[in-house]
Amino acid sequence: MIILLSPDAGPSDRDAVRAAVERLGATVGEVELGSRQALLVEDAGGRLTVGALSRLPHVQRVVPLDSGTPLAAGSLTRERRPVALGPALFGGGHVSVIAGPCTIEDPEHLRVITHAVRDAGAAALRGGAFKVRTSPHAYQGGGLEALTHLRAASRDVGLPFFTELTDPRQVEQVADLVDGVQIGARHMQNFPLLLEAAKLGKPILLKRHMAADLEEFLLAAEYVLQAGHEDVILCERGIKSAERHVRYMLDIGAIPWLKQRVGLPIIVDPSHAAGHHELVPGLARAAIAAGADGLIVEVHHAPEATRCDALQALSPGAFAELMNDVRSLVALDGRRVVPAPLHALDGEGNGVARVRLAGAPGRIDGQHTAASSRRSV
Ligand code: PEP
Ligand code: MN
Repeated sequence: MIILLSPDAGPSDRDAVRAAVERLGATVGEVELGSRQALLVEDAGGRLTVGALSRLPHVQRVVPLDSGTPLAAGSLTRERRPVALGPALFGGGHVSVIAGPCTIEDPEHLRVITHAVRDAGAAALRGGAFKVRTSPHAYQGGGLEALTHLRAASRDVGLPFFTELTDPRQVEQVADLVDGVQIGARHMQNFPLLLEAAKLGKPILLKRHMAADLEEFLLAAEYVLQAGHEDVILCERGIKSAERHVRYMLDIGAIPWLKQRVGLPIIVDPSHAAGHHELVPGLARAAIAAGADGLIVEVHHAPEATRCDALQALSPGAFAELMNDVRSLVALDGRRVVPAPLHALDGEGNGVARVRLAGAPGRIDGQHTAASSRRSV
């Protein structure tokens, strides 16, 4: 096992941990982990547990080396760094909210939705072009043409986007179009898709299958990590249960559990868990309070006109309220919502855009006017 010491542990604290572990009958060695302070514990007697060692003072985390998911567990030992989708940052003290329609339909609707979520403070967009529907009779998505609409809308508002891929053959087709790849719940164990998507080198948003336990979830992430791609964001979106009052049962406990075991960011999809727009804000707030590094939320200004997940879409107004709640909750534990509210305007009253999105109009690379970028806070 590796013990990661609290960042503020001094040399005498380190010695105290070492002595305590040795008193418990294990051998303690040194291990180099960049700037992290760590100790290697060899417990020949096999008596020590992760739980027991975690209770020692000055111990931040204990990482078992015999974990079935060594790469996911190993990510804990890296510096805590966020996964970046353009300017959107997930983890490492940063919280970003992804928002947009379930599926990409009418371009004018898309324009209204993307402007609304940008103005409310979303850090990234979502929208499905390749939909995975339980019924073959349900709308299957607009394919590549729809994706070009989402890309145009993304560049128009200056926010990057995630979109779901469902087949390894799509990866090459969309390589120059997408910012990040969503692997949906039903494809969590589509290993050829995971491996092909990893080759893109773009952030992967991996959703938990509705019947997967957390070990299976991490093993799926392990496929991507083993392919040498580290930018994986885990997404809890609810699991099957006996209950009917929600579409899926959101596993809030998964958030702190995963945070203790892996260094990958974890975000939550309250929309597919709730199945009903009235339940979404409560689940979203619970997720942020439990430590989630972000949310992915479905928003539609005219849900009566959509063919996909109309009941669970938040109105733009409800989404703006939720963003206010997210900012309040995140401030409580000293984390930061991305983007910061644009109070920080320059002398001319302009907000300064931070990152160039490939294919964005020039405006995005420089400054936007306060009017086009001010967010309600
Ligand atoms: C979605 O995000 O559009 C979606 C279908 O979600 P899930 O894969 O979690 O069902
Ligand atoms: Mn949906």
